[in-house]
Amino acid sequence: MRKKGFLVTIASPSGGGKSTICKEILSINPLFCYSISWTTRNIRGNEIDGKDYFFTDIETFNKKLKAGFFIEYAEVHGNYYGTSKDYLENCLNEEKIVLLDIDVQGVESIKKQGFDVVSIFILPPNENVLKKRLLDRGTDSIEVINKRLENSKKEINYLQSYDYLVINEDFLKAVETVNDILVAEMNRLNRYVDPLNYYYINSNNSQSEIDTTNL
Ligand code: 5GP
Repeated sequence: MRKKGFLVTIASPSGGGKSTICKEILSINPLFCYSISWTTRNIRGNEIDGKDYFFTDIETFNKKLKAGFFIEYAEVHGNYYGTSKDYLENCLNEEKIVLLDIDVQGVESIKKQGFDVVSIFILPPNENVLKKRLLDRGTDSIEVINKRLENSKKEINYLQSYDYLVINEDFLKAVETVNDILVAEMNRLNRYVDPLNYYYINSNNSQSEIDTTNL
């Protein structure tokens, strides 16, 4: 039975676990795909251009912006980030469920444009766990970690505007919960394309399979 695709935004404070959860979710179902954003920020240590982001310069970003390439864009921590309009539309035409890792401004902008969006916020169980995860990652200085913790307070302030909250205390449970949310959302009635038509056509086609001799 055909179902419409939709967008899923996943947000969390830095260190909250959204990237790892996204990666795991993408491996579960081939209908899930990931929207790779364009950004003007510098590439970090283990990131791959074209996989984590499309890294670009400000001139190219502005040209694309003027040409209407982005469905939404935002300035975050002094860098620009944007989502490709064509990519989203192609995925939705293919009835896919598109995961987006975008900030709250991006979520609001996409919602305003009338897209079917499900928003999920991933929260660590408490601030100490978040700090420990950032320290354990070993990628940032203590100053950067403190800045991220400060920023996380601002991000958590937007919690009320999200549809779902997933507490990431146990990684596997958090992945399971996000997957459960997506499966439930896929089965919303308004996401089925003409379900009764499908049911009756199928009923007619299956007539011949029933042995009616003893009826
Ligand atoms: P980072 O530079 O740490 O990868 O991402 C910084 C922030 O930018 C994160 O909150 C992330 O969700 C957000 N972000 C990444 N791509 C996009 C995008 O295409 N649009 C918007 N609005 N935010 C984005």
